[in-house]
Amino acid sequence: MSLIVQKFGGTSVAGADRVRHVARRIVATHRLGHDVVVVVSAPGDTTDDLLGLARQITDRPPARELDMLLATGEQVSIALLAMAIHTEGAQAISLTGAQAQIRTERVHTRARILAVDRRRIDRELATGRIVIVAGFQGITDDEEITTLGRGGSDTTAVALASALGADLCQIYTDVEGVFTADPRIVPEARKLKEITYEELLEMASSGALVVQTRAAELAMQHRVRLEVRSSFVDREGTVVTDAMEERRVVTGVTHDTNVAKISTTGVGDRPGAAHRLFRAIADRHVNVNLIIQSVPRKDRADISFTVAKSDMAAAVDAARSVAEELGIRDIFSDDHVAVVSIVGAGMISNPGVAARMFGALAAQGINIQLIGTSEIKVSCVIASDEVAAAVRALHKEFELDRA
Ligand code: ADP
Ligand code: ASP
Ligand code: MG
Repeated sequence: MSLIVQKFGGTSVAGADRVRHVARRIVATHRLGHDVVVVVSAPGDTTDDLLGLARQITDRPPARELDMLLATGEQVSIALLAMAIHTEGAQAISLTGAQAQIRTERVHTRARILAVDRRRIDRELATGRIVIVAGFQGITDDEEITTLGRGGSDTTAVALASALGADLCQIYTDVEGVFTADPRIVPEARKLKEITYEELLEMASSGALVVQTRAAELAMQHRVRLEVRSSFVDREGTVVTDAMEERRVVTGVTHDTNVAKISTTGVGDRPGAAHRLFRAIADRHVNVNLIIQSVPRKDRADISFTVAKSDMAAAVDAARSVAEELGIRDIFSDDHVAVVSIVGAGMISNPGVAARMFGALAAQGINIQLIGTSEIKVSCVIASDEVAAAVRALHKEFELDRA
């Protein structure tokens, strides 16, 4: 007998029929003799709808109250799913993040999980019940409800799988696995049979929504056996592996439209300038992604970087706060940008991949504004209205539509 963690996303539990369908799949796994812990997201667009309600009240909802509100979405799903499992003739119990003892830091709306106390879950499993845990939420040591950032139910699932020493963590979603690109943009995108932890992490962090970045990171750290597959059809999905036999140069193309670009000009070219600027940004809890600094002329350089759209105002504010000290002349911000990336473990040993990427974008007349690279990723900032064309061109250039 083994312990399996199964996570079902919002689309998979949108409406009574889908909840019943999911319940049947869970019960089928349970009847094979496995212990099953289930994690669910809020139904359909619930989280967006709740955010919309909050915005009708205020432009700046207090983060604590936002978490209180958003956490209700997942509570709807766990209760309905537990009821549906009962009607299928199995025993189940629903638990909120707090009841399941998912402890987080006290950073509202984007808390990280610190620890999971497994005792309650173990007790419930020991009575033969299926345990259903609300995704995306946790509790701080001073009993405050937190949420884990958009897409956070994936992270709940991986954290539980790791804490419980599960044999397998399955992410059930509205696509059949991890694809070579977002199938909504590239209809010819192919399902990947396998992907390495590193590739999954780079794809997630560069915009592939299919698994939250933090979930990919935790899975990699703790080597959680992870699988992404469809809630709707019973087919093999994508298995996350340590290393792969097949050596492909580029595994996937990703895009991220939740991006803003900030440019500062005339930054004094002296040690510590970048430190001051990015310290001011970090102090506002803003994450910076790509950074580029121009070659200094007359002791002055330009520094550009990208942040999430929602952090643009805070980043500009941070740059302003050090403008005088650093001699910054202008601060420009632009949120009509997007990042398109190619990811692949085989890039390390294949020169010329980046050049091919730039060539394919140039052939479409797409201008590159910033470039960033890691060992297994190349990213370009481009205009947001060119992103679909860019993704399709790159998918074609690297022949990802061919098996
Ligand atoms: P869930 O509600 O199940 O968590 P999400 O909407 O968060 O589902 O994530 C699944 C979506 O991710 C898919 O519908 C797909 O459009 C999108 N997606 C983006 N990039 C990829 C990719 N490379 N492979 C698969 N899906 C992707
Ligand atoms: N319901 C949350 C969201 O929409 C968490 C999740 O879906 O994973 O972001
Ligand atoms: Mg998701």
